Amino acid sequence: MARSGVLQAALARIDPDELVELTRELVRIPSVVRPGEPGADESAVARRVEAFFRKEGFALEIHEVAPGRPNVVAWLGEKGSGKSLLLEGHTDVVTEGAAAEWSHPPFGAELVDGRIYGRGAADMKSGLAAAMLAAAAIKRSGATFRGKLVVGALVDEEGDMLGAKHLCTTPTGRELDAAIICEPEQNELCLEQRGVVWARVAIRGRMAHGAMPEAGVNPIGALGALLAEVPRLERRLRALCRRSPHLRPATVTPTVVRAPVEGVPQSNVIPSAAHAVLDVRLTPGPDEKAVAAEIDAACAAAMRRLPGATIEWQPVNGYRLATRVERGEPLVRAMVSGVRRATGKPEHFGGVPGSTDGTILRMTLGIPIVTCGPGNRLIPHQVDEYVEVAELVDAARIYVASALTFLS
Ligand SMILES: [Zn+2]
Repeated sequence: MARSGVLQAALARIDPDELVELTRELVRIPSVVRPGEPGADESAVARRVEAFFRKEGFALEIHEVAPGRPNVVAWLGEKGSGKSLLLEGHTDVVTEGAAAEWSHPPFGAELVDGRIYGRGAADMKSGLAAAMLAAAAIKRSGATFRGKLVVGALVDEEGDMLGAKHLCTTPTGRELDAAIICEPEQNELCLEQRGVVWARVAIRGRMAHGAMPEAGVNPIGALGALLAEVPRLERRLRALCRRSPHLRPATVTPTVVRAPVEGVPQSNVIPSAAHAVLDVRLTPGPDEKAVAAEIDAACAAAMRRLPGATIEWQPVNGYRLATRVERGEPLVRAMVSGVRRATGKPEHFGGVPGSTDGTILRMTLGIPIVTCGPGNRLIPHQVDEYVEVAELVDAARIYVASALTFLS
């Protein structure tokens, strides 16, 4: 338990106006990543984060994970015989899409009726700003604690999660004991997140004239057979996965189908190859081998329906399995206490529908993670994305109280 006076002093150093302005400033820096377009990356927002921590007197590391794509990692204290806690945020945002569809300019960060609007307002410049200001408030208040409080502003969460993968290779990453993932979850304590495997399926047949199908092997037939297997695959995965009150059950969704794969599509040519991607979402339970065996079985069943065709698949981006931490974890207990003491309200538990940087940290480092941050869970990637100021301020307070409790 954080000593009450120390906690109150740290909470008092959170200035809501400063937090709102910092969030708006971060939203106004577009950090949509467009490969090949100079400056269309996380570099400008990372520089802002770096400047903030330099001014506050934090220890700091910058890791250029890819050209123009720096992780900013700042910390207070040393681990010593204590623990190291990470407050994690990502600096990239997804595309704004058609700006004309927005009723507030996507990078204007307009403040209207207690909401900040803009791409990244929820996902997740607000969570990042709350983490930055929470750590700064602890430092400004002079609160002492045992161990190390780290803030990581990482790149590429919306892509391949290169930032989180890189952090796991650094000394600061390797010595972490726990992480709070500041993604938009309405400040609920999310102990579970669904996993994802993108299965890219490649089907080979034999090219032939459309008038003489017997002379070839049509991979589109096998593709059809595979799509027909999808409901069965989904049922089998659901049987393997644990049920959760906070997560939707496993799903298998075809998201890409393509044939021919190369050359110009022609009405009278049976193509030699077809491709498909299955977006496989998982709840906790099965390991990589078990998931792979089910996808293998679906492919084999499709192949049996079309002799002569071959089907192979591989995960596009490795396996991001579902994660779960137990309620008895010290991090969870610290956050339950943190929510109560910071907001005066009882905690709510929830679940993360997709995967996040936390998935990488949990799988690679084996540390407990809890996802908790400001913003409506359903609003990310939509037009007119927003965050409620009240939730933003609560988030910063929750981070202060949880960190001081966990590191006491
Ligand atoms: Zn996010």
